Amino acid sequence: MGGAVRDLLLGIRPKDFDVATNALPDEVRRIFRNCRLIGRRFRLAHVHFGQEIIEVATFRAAAAPEREDAEDLEVDGEGTSVVDVPAAAPFESEHRAFDTSGRILRDNIYGTIEEDVWRRDFAANGLYYNIDDFSIWDFVDGVSDVRARRLKLIGDPETRYREDPVRMLRAVRFAAKLDFSIDARTERPIRELAHLLDGVPPARLFDECLKLFLSGFGERSFQLLQQYGLFEHLFPMSAAAFRLPPYAYAEEMLVAGLANTDARIAADKPVTPTFLFAVLLWGAVLRELNEQSAGPAPDLAQLVQACDTVLRAQQSRVAIPRRFAVPMRELLMLQPRFNRRSGVKSLSLLQHPRFRAAFDFLLLRAQVGVAEPELAQWWTDIQVLPQEERVALVQARPADAPMQEGTAAAPARRRRRRRRGGAARS
Ligand code: ATP
Ligand code: MG
Repeated sequence: MGGAVRDLLLGIRPKDFDVATNALPDEVRRIFRNCRLIGRRFRLAHVHFGQEIIEVATFRAAAAPEREDAEDLEVDGEGTSVVDVPAAAPFESEHRAFDTSGRILRDNIYGTIEEDVWRRDFAANGLYYNIDDFSIWDFVDGVSDVRARRLKLIGDPETRYREDPVRMLRAVRFAAKLDFSIDARTERPIRELAHLLDGVPPARLFDECLKLFLSGFGERSFQLLQQYGLFEHLFPMSAAAFRLPPYAYAEEMLVAGLANTDARIAADKPVTPTFLFAVLLWGAVLRELNEQSAGPAPDLAQLVQACDTVLRAQQSRVAIPRRFAVPMRELLMLQPRFNRRSGVKSLSLLQHPRFRAAFDFLLLRAQVGVAEPELAQWWTDIQVLPQEERVALVQARPADAPMQEGTAAAPARRRRRRRRGGAARS
């Protein structure tokens, strides 16, 4: 159901097939041996077929409390039933809960397909494919939305965003990925409700960020996130840095980085969250560094500190797991080392496990004009030289000026060429 039916109608190969059924999670588990039940907030069955995981969701009854008619609903395999009363938020029962802003904390009240469709997000995502007779069941006029390449929320947009603010991100993601327009009523409340993202668990926002930025349509997704005022609720410090002239180029760097990532995905090359988050946070890190260090060229310890301050604050919005945050920090810490090119010691950088990613990051800095093209060229060339020639090169080289990107001494200017000797003008 959902995305797969939509994609098939569009002639796109679906990424996966989600299944919707009237079987309860426990029943699904009894039928399929390789089945795991996951999720407390939203209980699902994952059926494993080799490498593949098929997500199986039991039909839910309509979610909004005001839509609830006081009717018995079967909720689990034991035949327990609860009566949901129309309630003012916050609302809490064992199987469904809302917080004071109307956000759904739990949604495990099961229902029929006719009830299920109303709690799907967009009409274009609300299509069911019936495997018995190969028919499409369309309760919400979803087929005509797919044909018109349009995203329209089912129901009252504001209520639906309050129930789950991530739907605002999903609107942007599908608009970018499918090249759909967002219907006017669906679009209108987004700016005003963008702040609701602040209340979404950071781990969920991390997952959503990967889908937004690492699915092949990152550049477009970012533009839409900015357009709707959503980005600043995901990466507040980066958004703030982008608005300050000395760091505005960091936004260009992000756009260039996302364009590279999109091209890599199109070419079936691997991409990593480590690099993504480095590009997302670089502007914020430089700003932090600049604001806490008065000296012309801050030392590495100050860069480490700035990076940690930004990371700590960022984790309260988007939880970046340590396995990405740690290498990301290393990648950023290596940037000043590219400026040290004289002496044999400088060659150890080539052996660093994070060299490749750090070098790609240097190329990106050069691409937007904050690292000298000559510097990028040096590190490009030296990689393919035999060791004796490398040594000869670094021994002949005079000492370089340290990296000054984003510091008080060298307010980063686009394509500004530092004069030889690196004398900074005030
Ligand atoms: P993708 O191609 O990214 O998998 P999809 O449409 O299949 O897109 P999923 O996140 O896999 O999206 O979700 C499957 C279906 O479940 C959606 O098509 C939609 O009907 C429904 N759905 C998923 N998340 C939500 C949500 N937050 N609110 C309402 N409905 C949702
Ligand atoms: Mg899917």
